[in-house]
Amino acid sequence: MTEAERHTYDVVVVGAGGAGLRAAIEARAQGMRTAVICKSLFGKAHTVMAEGGIAASMGNVNAGDNWKVHFRDTMRGGKFLNNWRMAELHAQEAPDRVWELETWGALFDRTKEGRISQRNFGGHEYPRLAHVGDRTGLELIRTLQQKIVSLQQEDEREFGDFEARLKVFQECTVTRVLTEPGGGSPEGGPAAGASPGGGARVSGVFGYARESGRFFVVEAPAVVLATGGIGKSFKVTSNSWEYTGDGHALALLAGASLINMEFVQFHPTGMVWPPSVKGILVTESVRGDGGVLRNSENKRFMFDYVPDVFKNQYAQSEEEADGWYTDPEKHRRPPELLPRDEVARAINSEVKAGRGSPHGGVFLDVSTRMPAEEIKRRLPSMHHQFKELADVDITAEPMEVGPTCHYVMGGVDVEPDTAAARGVTGLYAAGEVAGGMHGSNRLGGNSLSDLLVFGRRAGLHAATYVTSLADARPSILPQQVDAAAAEALSPFHVPEADGAAGTLPENPYSVHQRLQQTMNDLVGIIRRAEEMGEALERLAKLRQEAVRAGVEGHRQFNPGWHLALDLRNMLLVSECVARAALERSESRGGHTRDDYPEMDRRWRRVNLVCDLAGTADAASGQISLTRRENPPIRPDLLALFEQGELLKYLTDEELAQ
Ligand code: FAD
Repeated sequence: MTEAERHTYDVVVVGAGGAGLRAAIEARAQGMRTAVICKSLFGKAHTVMAEGGIAASMGNVNAGDNWKVHFRDTMRGGKFLNNWRMAELHAQEAPDRVWELETWGALFDRTKEGRISQRNFGGHEYPRLAHVGDRTGLELIRTLQQKIVSLQQEDEREFGDFEARLKVFQECTVTRVLTEPGGGSPEGGPAAGASPGGGARVSGVFGYARESGRFFVVEAPAVVLATGGIGKSFKVTSNSWEYTGDGHALALLAGASLINMEFVQFHPTGMVWPPSVKGILVTESVRGDGGVLRNSENKRFMFDYVPDVFKNQYAQSEEEADGWYTDPEKHRRPPELLPRDEVARAINSEVKAGRGSPHGGVFLDVSTRMPAEEIKRRLPSMHHQFKELADVDITAEPMEVGPTCHYVMGGVDVEPDTAAARGVTGLYAAGEVAGGMHGSNRLGGNSLSDLLVFGRRAGLHAATYVTSLADARPSILPQQVDAAAAEALSPFHVPEADGAAGTLPENPYSVHQRLQQTMNDLVGIIRRAEEMGEALERLAKLRQEAVRAGVEGHRQFNPGWHLALDLRNMLLVSECVARAALERSESRGGHTRDDYPEMDRRWRRVNLVCDLAGTADAASGQISLTRRENPPIRPDLLALFEQGELLKYLTDEELAQ
């Protein structure tokens, strides 16, 4: 029988970024004994890296803003593929979540009148992003941590124990969400035949402490996944080491579905030089605050790339664009502030046409647009980042930038109001790991607000579910723990050489590199059918190699072992991305097909759903793909758009109605 530390809680939150912490605070506020588990140190989650701000229609800088305008912008940004109910809830609740942060101690930058300042960002009609310089994520996490500490202090006063109702397990990786046998398999694996909202029931999680390698089991009837994104499956990415798609894979393995996985956002502006820092983000606030993009001919090229659907909202000349910064009522927005997918594609085209910068990007310039002191005040991190990493002084010369894998719009298929994962009772997902909210393309700033709105909802509904159970809680069987432990230990037991084929164990780092190269080259920013077919073949081979990815040494801090386990997750999500991208024969948002360059209205109603195929054979695919109809948008929400605009997006049947 496996030796594993055992704990019992009401709600387990996997992930301590913005979504996880907000969910944990809510679950604890509802009286639940709540555990937070995170791979990194507490406070070091990816959310800390968020720079530009949090989108909320508070109307502090332009009183014309309100939730309906925010909803409209979000749907336009996502090219109408968004789950409209999530987009509605998000736009309505984001301002309250920002105010709430302020009451918990967040210190946002202010306007001259003393209100929370809001800045411009791509795709947002009005200045909407509340911010703290370019370190907004840090302030968000700091505030949520502070709130957690204050709740723990309350518990100490009431129970004499800081961790009586809220405990953080840091530097621990969850490798399985366990489900009740009968719904899920005894191994806690795929929940064969799990009905929507129903069959399998969550019973807890299995994982290991990264430092000691010791196993642990947490029994709990509700699990909130808040594990963030998948960027580490791509070679050039702005994402941190944690983004190995764990939550996406955990959900699939437990019997839930993923949707919209073909939509991966390539942020237009990552660093391109020097090679060691390629992909690190250059925040969109650089453009929001006046930065412009130029090619090697010094041309402000974005005017050539305004697509028809956005023609009415964006400036046609430099004069008009520059006028917008001081008088937005009388001018249209600069095309540098188009949604990210449009800007990323434009940069890609310029570089391909031979008009790129020396290191394969384009130029992003603030030095000629603002006094040096203002640049340092508004963009302190960017100034520091370029000086330290590339020896470039952005107050005196332009930056070189190019697209970088940044965000995944696809994720766990959830019920919009409750954040409950369809297919597995007791499983919830919030933040970047959840799908639907952003459709085919996320607007900048809409992630931090998403984390808070749906993090809170996930915590609330997990608590409601647990309360409804009374004492009838699912339990974990010893065989489930044994199976999860055997899986986790498998990299230590790869045979030295396979006699028949003479194959040697694989190095997990090499497998990871080949995976990243495959995704970057073949399922990257511009996609073609043959290349994605080749990617699927390579992924099949990589899956076999990953099974043989062996490690030496002990379980005590062993990064090679950690990576060998992460490979399972990255391979699962990469297959989802490649399969869905091959299936969707149109270009929309974060999915651009060279062979189908136009958006096709018939695809607006289609969500591609990935499930675990249930095959044990690593050579054939692990994922099954089905089409599901996107629910029709409520008429009062459709009425927020001009008829002419709807003609560009909606299907003929929808328009007829
Ligand atoms: P995260 O903050 O990444 O947290 C994930 C947590 O899950 C971590 O604690 C991690 O340790 C844990 N975890 C993962 N796997 C496991 C596992 N198996 N077991 C246990 N724990 C696990 N968005 C905006 O709205 N505005 C911005 O200005 C902005 N700027 C950005 C700048 C950069 C450089 C980047 C990369 C992104 C930016 N984004 C921004 C996007 C935004 O930061 C992320 O989408 C968001 O922070 C994701 O938050 P999350 O809570 O979902 O996940």
